[in-house]
Amino acid sequence: MEHVVQIEELAIDGGSPVREETLAYGGQTIEEEDVEAVAETLRSDWLTTGPTVEAFEKKFADFVGTDEAVAVSNGTAALHAAMHAIGIGPSDEVIVPTMTFAATANSVVFEGGTPVFADVDPETLLIDPERVEERITEDTKAVVGVDYVGQPCRYDALREIADAHDLVLLDDACHATGGTYRGDPVGSLADLNTFSFHPVKNMTTGEGGMVTTDNANWAERMRRFRNHGITSTHHERAEKGSWYYDISEVGYNYRLTDFQCALGISQLQRLPEWVERRREIAHAYDEAFAPMDTVEPVAQREDSICAYHLYVIQLDLNQLRVDREQVFNALQAEGIGVNVHYIPVHYHPHYRENLGTEEGLCPTAEAAYERIITLPVFPRMTEGNVSDVIEAVRKVISAYQR
Ligand SMILES: *Cc1c(COP(=O)(O)O)cnc(C)c1O
Repeated sequence: MEHVVQIEELAIDGGSPVREETLAYGGQTIEEEDVEAVAETLRSDWLTTGPTVEAFEKKFADFVGTDEAVAVSNGTAALHAAMHAIGIGPSDEVIVPTMTFAATANSVVFEGGTPVFADVDPETLLIDPERVEERITEDTKAVVGVDYVGQPCRYDALREIADAHDLVLLDDACHATGGTYRGDPVGSLADLNTFSFHPVKNMTTGEGGMVTTDNANWAERMRRFRNHGITSTHHERAEKGSWYYDISEVGYNYRLTDFQCALGISQLQRLPEWVERRREIAHAYDEAFAPMDTVEPVAQREDSICAYHLYVIQLDLNQLRVDREQVFNALQAEGIGVNVHYIPVHYHPHYRENLGTEEGLCPTAEAAYERIITLPVFPRMTEGNVSDVIEAVRKVISAYQR
């Protein structure tokens, strides 16, 4: 069914906006049970390094189906701990997609390694296994998949490549908490899997992160790493009545508090219904945009359940009179808190100056960057909010159509 195209004056040109108040692109859901869970932990003996941390780790590991889960203070710390666990150091290369949040690559730099940027598939914007293979050298130690917007990467192909070249496979799953790939939960797909619990992500602990793995040695190394590198826990020392501990390699303070873990346990219970709601909203957008050939949602494969941390559209700029920036500004003026995920990481001055990464390194991601816009998606959005977004996109796109 074709919608009726009527050109209304855009808010950016002085017309009335679709919404008076800006709708953010993401946001947390906090309910009374979350507040209760946190308050209960605040009234307990343990604010940090207590039993709620272990309880959250156990529940999260069970949820994703791994033996181990290590809670840390944020998603960046999770990536850093994972790079440390596998021993990344100077002269090591780690292949990462350029279409990601910079922390994926930065975490390699933290440990002295070199991130090597791989290009993405033009439709899904997920790391392209063929482009990964081209980047492998004798220094390559690991490859990181980033489950962009919440869709798992092609882990079958990535696993084959990793096995053939003796690489560690990591999943930066910060977008994909609650998703699945061929029936397997995100968090169990790679050798190490990292999560973020920032408020815009699929569940929150305020700030927070997690690494999941089946490797007990890596898990132990990450538990030391998040606690200054100290070899024993204070519980173990208390049991022995001893003050003594060793630091055999230095670590950081990347601990997650007990009251944050209480929030995590409470949030995890409702994660599946929130992912369901995110998918409903994404489905409504898909249907609304299907007749518009200027607006192409990031493609979804049938073998996965996308957790839709983000909903990203690619504009067909050939059919528009303006560029992405103008569409972005016009949507903002309509009261839609659109965003752009992401500036290709190899464009950032740090990488240009230190690694000599230039335009042309990852042409598909670079071209995508010129035409992507992130639309709001989060569980608390009402049907009215969803229609506002659709209306604003239709209004702006029809005004700028060639
Ligand atoms: C959010 C995010 C991170 C970082 O998580 P923080 O908790 O903000 O440190 C890393 N990678 C990706 C892909 C993310 O989306």
